[in-house]
Amino acid sequence: MTAVVHETEGLFGYIYCDFFQRQNKPHQDCHFTIRGGRWLQETGQYQLPVVVLMLSLPHPTQRAPTLLTPGMMENLFHEMGHAMHSMLGRTRYQHVTGTRCATDFAEVPSILMEYFASDYRVVSQFARHYETGQPLPKSMVARLCESKKVCGAADTQLQIFYAVLDQIYHSQPQNRSTTEILQEMQNKFYGLPYTPNTAWQQRFSHLIGYGAKYYSYLMSRAVASMVWKQCFVQDPLNREMGERYRREMLAHGGAKEPMQMVEGNE
Ligand SMILES: [Zn+2]
Repeated sequence: MTAVVHETEGLFGYIYCDFFQRQNKPHQDCHFTIRGGRWLQETGQYQLPVVVLMLSLPHPTQRAPTLLTPGMMENLFHEMGHAMHSMLGRTRYQHVTGTRCATDFAEVPSILMEYFASDYRVVSQFARHYETGQPLPKSMVARLCESKKVCGAADTQLQIFYAVLDQIYHSQPQNRSTTEILQEMQNKFYGLPYTPNTAWQQRFSHLIGYGAKYYSYLMSRAVASMVWKQCFVQDPLNREMGERYRREMLAHGGAKEPMQMVEGNE
């Protein structure tokens, strides 16, 4: 359990760090809330949030500590974005605190953290060779970041295609099979053609879990990119910007319209 403490304001909450693999543990990185924050009228104080940050990292061996791949590190940052959303929420009610917000906004804090995970000024704060203590070379981080952009356009196209498909599946009844719809939309929105006699939509659980809200991935990515560019690209470790981001976005949880927050309205 890790306490989240602010330099001057004190204790903010607790993160239960369940980082390592074990038998029967779901192999999916995630964040969930044990106790949400809320204003307690009786005591006039804030009920501190308690959340879990769950990963499936390999255990250290006799020869080496746990070493994270860039993907594992990015996931850790991503889930930490969700956890800090819960930590920094200061809402009146528990059901709208932290990540309990509009789906359109839910992935903004976590995707924003992925930008931090790809920035040398941030990565150089902690990434060291475990034996020599050498920091990660700047050129290596630059190459890694460049490699993430490979097929970026195709990836965005794919997300648009998924989002459209999800909208149609959940709109008015269609007198045709989900596979026929898939075929039509894939040909219309995605560069690669549909493969006959396949029906992957039946295995893509997000089309059910998100139920017409799959587009929020793209929406969150766009907003996170805007926040990164406007507030952090100049100086990712800027204290004032961090406080502003906390005050104007994270503190509100789901108690304020995301659009109002994005536009910076009071
Ligand atoms: Zn997420």
